[in-house]
Amino acid sequence: MPCPARGWRPDRRRMSEPAAAPDRIAITRFKGVGPRAAERLARLGLHTLEDVLFHLPFRYEDRTRITPIGALRPEQGVVIEGEVLAADVVFGKRRSLLCKVADGTGMVVLRFYHFSAAQKNYLEKGRAIRVYGEPRPGAAGLEFYHPEYQTGPDLPPLEKALTPVYPTTDGVSQKLLRNLAGQALQWLRGNAPEELIPRELLDQSGLPGLAEALIKLHHPQPDDPVDLLLDGNHPAVKRLVMEEMVAHQLGMLAKRAGQKALSAPRLDGDRLTARLLESLPFQLTGAQQRVIGEIRADLRREHPMLRLIQGDVGSGKTLVAAAAALVAMGAGYQVALMAPTELLAEQHLNNFRHWLAPLGIDVHWLAGSVGAKARRETLAALADGGGALVVGTHALFQDAVVFQRLGLIIIDEQHRFGVQQRLALREKGRFDNQVPHQLTLTATPIPRTLAMSVYGDLDTSVIDEMPPGRKPIQTLALPAGRRDAVVERVRAACRDGAQAYWVCTLIEESDELQARAAEATFEDLREALPDLTVELVHGRMKAKEKQERMARFASGEARLLIATTVIEVGVDVPNATLMVMENAERLGLAQLHQLRGRVGRGGDQSFCLLLYDTPLSHTAKKRLAVMRDTSDGFVIAEEDLKLRGPGEWLGTRQTGDLAFRIADLVRDEALMAPAREVAAALLARYPQRVDRLLRRWLRGGEHFADV
Ligand code: ADP
Ligand code: MG
Repeated sequence: MPCPARGWRPDRRRMSEPAAAPDRIAITRFKGVGPRAAERLARLGLHTLEDVLFHLPFRYEDRTRITPIGALRPEQGVVIEGEVLAADVVFGKRRSLLCKVADGTGMVVLRFYHFSAAQKNYLEKGRAIRVYGEPRPGAAGLEFYHPEYQTGPDLPPLEKALTPVYPTTDGVSQKLLRNLAGQALQWLRGNAPEELIPRELLDQSGLPGLAEALIKLHHPQPDDPVDLLLDGNHPAVKRLVMEEMVAHQLGMLAKRAGQKALSAPRLDGDRLTARLLESLPFQLTGAQQRVIGEIRADLRREHPMLRLIQGDVGSGKTLVAAAAALVAMGAGYQVALMAPTELLAEQHLNNFRHWLAPLGIDVHWLAGSVGAKARRETLAALADGGGALVVGTHALFQDAVVFQRLGLIIIDEQHRFGVQQRLALREKGRFDNQVPHQLTLTATPIPRTLAMSVYGDLDTSVIDEMPPGRKPIQTLALPAGRRDAVVERVRAACRDGAQAYWVCTLIEESDELQARAAEATFEDLREALPDLTVELVHGRMKAKEKQERMARFASGEARLLIATTVIEVGVDVPNATLMVMENAERLGLAQLHQLRGRVGRGGDQSFCLLLYDTPLSHTAKKRLAVMRDTSDGFVIAEEDLKLRGPGEWLGTRQTGDLAFRIADLVRDEALMAPAREVAAALLARYPQRVDRLLRRWLRGGEHFADV
């Protein structure tokens, strides 16, 4: 019979060891938890008393007051108390048990589709009954469907606190979860709770202690501001958020310390870098100079550099990478540059060859499309040290690739590589107990809010200045009905000597469908623009073919390039000043920004036309407005984060290691800096607590194993 458990009394024999830490008290020692329940609870991640304490309600019901039946409103969770008038089985569309309850102010029906004979008999006329639930309009006026209830003669006293509703899974009832939380809180009241963050470190924040916060969250009082508890703006929630963030920062610090304990070769070769810079037709921007300076300082240390370069598309990251590579090569070490796609890797290859050929440096190439003979030669050169620099894709991880003296690894767009792959490459460079330095480039700006968390284990540099003379891209959003006008615009631009991209997007991830859509558009536009040389690239083409077609566009032979999103990264044709994106409403902000970055790379004014299908969803409208209003990648990243929330934002970037349980990086941004301070103080003054905190929040710290 459904009836909330009351007056829980933790089994003293089983839970009475005050010395035990809450993460050492197995859930099987709770009253009412046998092996089968334990198994189900494990699916919720509940293994210990501590897990129960931190399994928080997602809403509350008010069972502290009785509502008169005459005052019932549909869809409002309430408690009513009355007397059973009748309980009858009725045969309508479905057989059901109808129980009528009255309290003098009105009458209401409880309806059960699943019921037992015993249950029917028990709900006899005249019995006192208390019902919990949400009434809904039904055949007999307001009805409660399958409500929880208790029957008399004696009904227990009403709840004093609000009733928590917990996230759950099949086979685990709210009743059980409430019961467990009750037992856990009882334990908490009887045992000094394990405050892992000393009071003195929290005083400034004005946040409550841990026990107080947990009790408030599990059992708030009827006059507590439930809204604040639920939306995470109550000090009780903030207290837990703070602790989780502190734990996270400690994890980062530990990971960093592990890294820094390794040794790496000191690289100090300025000669080649100086020659490269002299040979350039332009001056480095101030930001490029600063970042190159930071990298040089890192490379001179005897511990591995772990630096992330963030810079918007077109900010000149590749050149910074080349300068770093030359420092390593100048010191007699090899360098590997790895990019996630062959197209992007090839762009780097071309850039590097262009810059380094005058210095007499060969750039080797290793990717899936490289033929057997060339591959053999490259492998031999890398193994005997004759090859100083190799650019490539995942092919660089293969077992057959052996370096003689790898000193620096450069990774473009790191989030697209798995941790294992990065580690594999680093291992290739391990010798004499040293590991190579590592430089990562990303054109996906990480909002400041997240950077501390996502990349807390890396040093970061930001190239926050564009090469001079760049004009901001003018962006317009147009309904698909204006396509003809857009085609005319392409014609005019190309006639005047410019080049254009036409990007076909599809929501489907399938290369095949994307390719077909692009082919259809290609045929269309070739017909509509007979005077133009039109070229097509998509993901289903062989690398070599793609390369040839891209080359025809880069040389200016082709004026219009129809492409799928394969051109998202790395393509650099400064004469291309117009980009059209079809179905722009389907793309996320990050991708729109990446794609748009293919134009605006020369001195001429560039344009981006976003074609969209109507009707636009609310967020699609917002996205297009953001694109129209700004071209600053960091602003766009912040907006993206706001629109999607950190979970999804991070998910699509596969940074993965960042699943917070309670903290919400956007909502709780203000706590980030204080959490960092607390983490540092804790590490300095209470190092013995660090381990426990990590275990409490990071489930064994496995998220940080990827050093
Ligand atoms: P990113 O990789 O950051 O998107 P790139 O390194 O590809 O940017 O640089 C974009 C373009 O700008 C390239 O053509 C590059 O040669 C050029 N470039 C880089 N630095 C400068 C500079 N300081 N002044 C002028 N042009 C530059
Ligand atoms: Mg680049």
